[in-house]
Amino acid sequence: MKQQTLALHAGYEKDSQGTMAVPIYQTTAYEFRDVEHAANLFALKELGNIYTRLNNPTTDVLEKRFATLEAGEAALATASGMAAIFYAIANAAEAGDNIVCASQLYGGTLTQAAHTFKRFGIEARFFDVHDPEQIKTLVDERTKVIFFESLTNPSIDVADIEAIVSIADEYGILTIVDNTVATPILCQPLKHGVDVVVHSASKYTTGQGLAIGGIMVERKMVADKLKDNPRYPQFNEPDESYHGLVYLDTPLPPYTLRARLTLLRDIGAVVAPFNSWLFIQGLETLPIRMPVHSKNAMMVAEFLVSHPKVLKVNYPGLVSDPNHELAMKYFKDGMCSGLLSFEVEDFETAKAIVDRTKIFSLVVNIGDSKSIITHPASTTHQQLSEAEMLACGVKPGLIRLSIGLEDPEDLIADLKQALEG
Ligand code: PLP
Repeated sequence: MKQQTLALHAGYEKDSQGTMAVPIYQTTAYEFRDVEHAANLFALKELGNIYTRLNNPTTDVLEKRFATLEAGEAALATASGMAAIFYAIANAAEAGDNIVCASQLYGGTLTQAAHTFKRFGIEARFFDVHDPEQIKTLVDERTKVIFFESLTNPSIDVADIEAIVSIADEYGILTIVDNTVATPILCQPLKHGVDVVVHSASKYTTGQGLAIGGIMVERKMVADKLKDNPRYPQFNEPDESYHGLVYLDTPLPPYTLRARLTLLRDIGAVVAPFNSWLFIQGLETLPIRMPVHSKNAMMVAEFLVSHPKVLKVNYPGLVSDPNHELAMKYFKDGMCSGLLSFEVEDFETAKAIVDRTKIFSLVVNIGDSKSIITHPASTTHQQLSEAEMLACGVKPGLIRLSIGLEDPEDLIADLKQALEG
């Protein structure tokens, strides 16, 4: 089936009431039939609902639908995109290990990797997403993850997914890709051999800036990469914290299973059922929205290129953009999503332009149906050092736009008056 059909139907079997909308199961816990039933559920002899920190029927539909859209095997929804990224990495790495990350990352991911994981004894090493060969100089026997974004925020670079995957596979290392900006409608990294995909569902998934959430999706047959791989004993050896369970000895998708049974159980950044329901509503129109975001962004990018005050425009849809070829290879019909950025002379010029826009809202978010303008140097990337900022492509005069679903002519008129005001 095609993405638009799957976005409306995958993962949902109507209940006995024939309910068309996916019901919101607003509950903390679930009654067991008897003690044996309860024991069977805890022992995974039977699968079913135990407690909403571990699973929930509304969230289950979201997980199944997202896994289907990403052409994956199983998914785990979380309370935020940051939680999904944390769980995806912490499922593979522990104190003493290292992770190799692209430098061009969302600011929050960069600080999580460089600072929070460091405090947990996990070292982050960085490579330029345009030079995957650097990965070879960074990995060793304690490298557990190679992490990158398919379409980077805010530097708007496109990763050569297959080049990175082929290096990772050479060493038997898991790849994790943040596919938030591209969405599964434009790009399906798992089909290019990536092992795990993560998302901030707070962006295009909700589509209207309604809720914070995240999701992690595992590739089919990721078990083959984990099986007897000395890098990942936690999937091959008994887990003391789960009465000796060996994750790879079960028929269940191991990456999601372990993240759910250990990380979600013990750390508990679980998505609320109501938010899962909002994400399900958003997914229904995602395949319709992404082409419009992409078309509008292309028109805005073309306008900006032609404006004398604009020094540089970063949008892979432009033939002149250095990422264009990769975008044509990896993104459906060459559509490049709604995120673009442009550079003006300096910090002060950027500030004045941002303040003069009227339709664009000054907000630190992306992927809303309403257009958004951000000045990364004073907001999302403020906490980074100057060197870290430059390494991830953020200059003082950089302005980021998340192009929404308004009429593109109105957006262009707004930017024109802001640039010339
Ligand atoms: N990944 C990307 C690419 C993002 O842009 C963001 C947030 O802006 C996140 C992850 C973090 O997601 P959340 O805000 O849902 O925690």
